[in-house]
Amino acid sequence: MTSQTPSDCLFCKIVAGEIPSDRVAESERSIAFRDISPAAPIHVLVVPRRHEPTVGALAAVSAEDLADVFRLASRVAEQEGVADAHRMIVNTGSDAGQTIFHAHVHLIAGAAFSEGRM
Ligand code: 5GP
Ligand code: ZN
Repeated sequence: MTSQTPSDCLFCKIVAGEIPSDRVAESERSIAFRDISPAAPIHVLVVPRRHEPTVGALAAVSAEDLADVFRLASRVAEQEGVADAHRMIVNTGSDAGQTIFHAHVHLIAGAAFSEGRM
């Protein structure tokens, strides 16, 4: 799996404010900002401030950071009025569509979801 060091990590630069983002919420441990290429009317990325390449790696080192990412994602869902109609998606590995190797959760809502299992 590809991994990046914080010095060349896009999301670390967004966390540091070195690259602009449309920030919608933040906590001591995480930030939330709109995806630059939204897949649905509401598409927010929730990112721990701490750099870990995947959500699994984050879970292994900090249960508190892991919990905070999902807590902030839920807060954004409430803020956006979709507390009862959203998806939280985690891609792990390039074969599963992960392109940024800094852990993040996609909060997606505002579109009709298919009846399928996924
Ligand atoms: P992944 O495919 O790794 O799960 O998700 C990465 C997401 O980051 C993609 O949905 C992509 O559109 C988004 N993204 C990539 N570059 C930027 C950027 O510079 N700013 C923002 N806000 N989102 C980005
Ligand atoms: Zn990073």
